[in-house]
Amino acid sequence: MPHDHHDHHDHHDDHTHGEDHPHAHLPPDPALRVRALETILTRKGLIDPAALDAIIDTYQNRIGPKNGALVVARAWADPEFHAALMRDATAVVADMGFFGRQGEHITAVANTPQTHNMVVCTLCSCYPWPLLGIPPGWYKSDAYRARAVREPRKVLADFGVTLPGDKAVRVWDSTAEMRYLVVPERPEGTEGWSVEALAGLVTRDSMIGTGLPRQPG
Ligand code: FE
Repeated sequence: MPHDHHDHHDHHDDHTHGEDHPHAHLPPDPALRVRALETILTRKGLIDPAALDAIIDTYQNRIGPKNGALVVARAWADPEFHAALMRDATAVVADMGFFGRQGEHITAVANTPQTHNMVVCTLCSCYPWPLLGIPPGWYKSDAYRARAVREPRKVLADFGVTLPGDKAVRVWDSTAEMRYLVVPERPEGTEGWSVEALAGLVTRDSMIGTGLPRQPG
């Protein structure tokens, strides 16, 4: 996957500092650093804390991974929707009202009995915000970004996911140009379930590929 033209390069400089002190300049608690920045920007009148809170609340709680779960559940329930999603996910999810920051170009990749899909952004943290909300901390970590491509099965094991040896693992590297939504396999024993009930089985991690859906019951 091409990985130039990123829209946010916040982590990239870290790689030029060498192994000895990659993050030595950071205070121990990133939350403190964020709070300090927010305070300074607010005092300078550059940001409105209420607006900031609203944006964070939107992506963390109101959107979260619920939109993505609804998309996956519809794909499970409706073969025509599934086909359309695989053809042009960006258009299909925009039709459902899911678009905006970091959601301009989305590709759906479906797990099958033969193939498991997993998503990473090796350079930073590209992620389909309108479908999954704000990425979890581990998604942005150096360890995940480095290991997901090099040893995906070990990473999956760390997440408690063990796949059959004959199932291929395909890792998709997100960029500013393309972000990915994993459509996990529909759990058995869910025949006739409503879209809403199915959505309740779809976890965030199952849509990144580091988890599997909940099983019924
Ligand atoms: Fe990125």
